[in-house]
Amino acid sequence: MLYPQEFDVIVVGGGHAGTEAALAAARMGAKTLLLSHNIETLGQMSCNPSIGGIGKGHLVKEVDALGGAMALATDESGIQFRILNSSKGPAVRATRAQADRILYKAAIRRMLENQPNLWLFQQAVDDLMVEGDRVVGACTQAGIRFRSRTVVLTAGTFLDGKIHVGLNNYAGGRAGDPPAVSLSARLKELKLPQGRLKTGTPPRIDGRTIDFSQCIEQPGDGVANQTENGARSAGVLGEVPVFSYMGGASMHPQHMPCWITHTNQRTHDIIRSGFDRSPMFTGKIEGVGPRYCPSVEDKINRFADKDSHQIFLEPEGLTTHEYYPNGISTSLPFDIQYELVRSMKGLENAHIIRPGYAIEYDYFDPRELKRSFETRAIGGLFFAGQINGTTGYEEAAAQGLFAGINAALQCRSLAGAANDFGGAWTPGRDQAYLGVLVDDLTTKGVTEPYRMFTSRAEFRLQLREDNADMRLTELGREMGLVDDARWDAFSRKRDAVSRETERLKSIWVNPRNLSVAEAERVLGRAIDREYNLADLLRRPDVSYQGLMSLDDAKHQNQELVDALVGDEVSRETTRAVIEQIEIAAKYSGYIDRQRDEVARAANYENLQLPEDLDYNQVTALSFEVRQRLSRQRPETLGQASRLSGITPAAISLLLIHLKRSR
Ligand code: FAD
Repeated sequence: MLYPQEFDVIVVGGGHAGTEAALAAARMGAKTLLLSHNIETLGQMSCNPSIGGIGKGHLVKEVDALGGAMALATDESGIQFRILNSSKGPAVRATRAQADRILYKAAIRRMLENQPNLWLFQQAVDDLMVEGDRVVGACTQAGIRFRSRTVVLTAGTFLDGKIHVGLNNYAGGRAGDPPAVSLSARLKELKLPQGRLKTGTPPRIDGRTIDFSQCIEQPGDGVANQTENGARSAGVLGEVPVFSYMGGASMHPQHMPCWITHTNQRTHDIIRSGFDRSPMFTGKIEGVGPRYCPSVEDKINRFADKDSHQIFLEPEGLTTHEYYPNGISTSLPFDIQYELVRSMKGLENAHIIRPGYAIEYDYFDPRELKRSFETRAIGGLFFAGQINGTTGYEEAAAQGLFAGINAALQCRSLAGAANDFGGAWTPGRDQAYLGVLVDDLTTKGVTEPYRMFTSRAEFRLQLREDNADMRLTELGREMGLVDDARWDAFSRKRDAVSRETERLKSIWVNPRNLSVAEAERVLGRAIDREYNLADLLRRPDVSYQGLMSLDDAKHQNQELVDALVGDEVSRETTRAVIEQIEIAAKYSGYIDRQRDEVARAANYENLQLPEDLDYNQVTALSFEVRQRLSRQRPETLGQASRLSGITPAAISLLLIHLKRSR
């Protein structure tokens, strides 16, 4: 049957990429259909129920700044929140939350069901409808054909998925879900270049069988923990962290601690004794696994000299006893899993609820995507999430949002509507981690599952978690992604930052009016001339609060003082305003230098390479370079410069050729 209604955007897959893609396209006004295997698994976390971490938290904040769902769903379901790297510089500080798996899924489903312009439909997609070189819809298992202008494919680990436990294996998309076999075959027919990757998950443990008295408690930040003698002590930071710019700690349902235990020599011996029945070491698994999230057998094999590894026991939710032992992802046979778990302190009597397993799946070479994530081969078909060779919910969500935006923009162009973004939005590497992610994938491709790190971003000083809204919310509003409530809150914050920054520049502190004791208390030492407050704030040991205490009546900003005792949102915003002002002052030298670097690089970064450029005519380039450029067809000179094997000298020669041929 041909479904009677047509859509602008069809999103296939309701995981982290698919849900953000569908929500983003619908927010932008595109008539959107989300087709997924099972409505009950929308927003399902396939592995551990945790969101964020270093680099990943940055992506979540960016998704949030563009009106996405992940951060708010985490605030609604989070049971432990921490700021990682809290003692380091602001560029590498990152939020990480443990979520209640069921509440997270419920929050995502509620957002999907209440999103105008979005329709949900439960059914496996077996085929894509293609006419000429354009996709025109998707066909489900039951033969229902849905027509659309664009399709965003976010099938995650499901394409030809194969699950391994020891030497046993069977077809599956993840434990308990079917694989997408027909769709995988269809994509192969369409000659989209693909490979195999693998990932894994640990056995889950019944918390009632864990002896927590043998483990180390790890409370969330800002939450009291139970010390050995029963007394309560404060967590690392005074405040409970919040993920969304529109969130508040009162949204968190309840806080729970995580726990720490360790592997030991016996654990390692047990693991080694299973190597001969490991699908990884016996060649049953062909796909490459994530280097930064390796299985425990991989760790023991690679780091043979280490006699212990830290294992976090993380609660899966408030209404379950299930615990996720983070650090022992494994596909070893079940008898080995049973022994290795019970060899650790506190887990001597542990009952495993679900065995660990590895999964192998198809992914598609992201170098065959345009910088908008539209496939080069088939117009209107976009790929996002794990299917592009990445790993992680956050990487998937960011890509989903991105592909959803670009599918919706393409629909606007096809409908002849004005489009300030030239048909696609492609953030720069200096603008967002999302820009780094998209550029890395489309330029370099992947050889192993790709995850985000702060070290991947050369301009990380300006790509911080704390300023993702300052970098992106205005753009999000222009594209139609940001609703009025978020826009109002953002505008208030932005205006407050600029007003307060100007005010600090206009207030001068004269050494004659400053006692030695006060100068030492607030500034660390006396001053020999007049300084304004903005200049003083640049000093490493001077804080905003300290400056305000110099002379209450004169220095305090009554508007901010009032907000700090106001409602939760006003308090969060005010803290964020002060944080912005402090960071901008303290790091202004470095940030200015980075801005200069960006400006210099921009000369060729965004220089478009003609689509019909015949690299064989650029005879000054070596044969290998010409071949590589012809094969990968970078869209800009900046992208060309990051291809492996392309030297700065080759870029200069290409630039000369472009100038001559203009
Ligand atoms: P998924 O979350 O996989 O969602 C895919 C969605 O598409 C599902 O809703 C599915 O039902 C639907 N779908 C698929 N095919 C079809 C079809 N033909 N028709 C209709 N619907 C379809 N990440 C980490 O960062 N660290 C880890 O340690 C880690 N371990 C993992 C272990 C396992 C066993 C698994 C399965 C995943 C693991 N991940 C891990 C990866 C993480 O789960 C993914 O990166 C993330 O979920 C990807 O999001 P996605 O939206 O791309 O795909």
